[in-house]
Amino acid sequence: MSARLIDGKAVASRVRARVAREVEKFAATHGGRAPGLATVLVGDDPASQLYVASKRRQTEEVGMRSFHHGLDAATSQDELLALIGELGADDEVDGILVQLPLPEQIDQDAAIGAIDPAKDVDGLTAGSAGLLAQGRPGLVPCTPQGVMELIRSSGVEPEGAEAVIVGRSILVGRPLASLLLNASATVTVCHSRTRDLAATCRRADILVAAVGSLRLVKGDWIKPGATVIDVGTNRTEDGLVGDVDFDAAREVAGAITPVPGGVGPMTIAMLLHNTVRAASARRPR
Ligand code: NAP
Repeated sequence: MSARLIDGKAVASRVRARVAREVEKFAATHGGRAPGLATVLVGDDPASQLYVASKRRQTEEVGMRSFHHGLDAATSQDELLALIGELGADDEVDGILVQLPLPEQIDQDAAIGAIDPAKDVDGLTAGSAGLLAQGRPGLVPCTPQGVMELIRSSGVEPEGAEAVIVGRSILVGRPLASLLLNASATVTVCHSRTRDLAATCRRADILVAAVGSLRLVKGDWIKPGATVIDVGTNRTEDGLVGDVDFDAAREVAGAITPVPGGVGPMTIAMLLHNTVRAASARRPR
């Protein structure tokens, strides 16, 4: 049996349409002022430039304002922290996105820590992570939030389900563990020291791979009928390939995300969602 494909492009497009309606409503109740997202890019890494260009374009497409700050690769940590501070104080800015990774002279934790928590639309500050870990409302990292939307869109109920996440990064694995736990799944988080990864994955009703290792998850690691979400993006000569052996996995799984076209499109959609949320929380009617 071939698994159902979870169409991330279609789900992301619905999220963007919902955000565009919320932006219109927000502007209508705030004298025509649409939410504003500031993007900060340090250096000229081509992949980061592409991501930021995409974020800016989609911000404007849903009717929000985009304020971009492109800084030289040699920018010092103090200069970057000063800019992040200014954006925090700027009332026109509702969300601040600092594109990662940063050049090595800048301490990533210090840069993230300088973001005004009310404008933390990437959900990466310790404050946002703490709220999420405690199951309290706050701004949630975009990729794991997108994973949850995909799981829900496929009609799968996390409550009571056995969920296994491979990867424990601050960006994906850890916040996703909190989200699934908050949705009452039974959550296991695997990493590079996990003893029997295959056996642990085989228990999963919901299996999420967020590793960055080409086709690490094999077809026979998947429980028949499971929902498989592949966050991994590995660049190969044949284009982007995920962390899951897709061809083998789709014969066993009940539903599966493709790469590309699965989790990828969701990340920016959830960034837009977070920006409207941040704007509404900062300026309640
Ligand atoms: P990361 O920070 O490098 O974390 C990778 C995690 O995988 C770590 O927890 C690591 O374990 C674990 N790991 C590595 N090798 C393993 C193995 N052989 N068995 C089990 N676990 C292993 O990566 P990330 O930022 O979370 O990103 C993960 C992947 O998702 C990457 O391919 C990235 O490009 C992709 N991604 C995609 C999107 C999107 O929008 N589509 C967004 C974010 C990330 P340790 O902690 O023990 O080292």
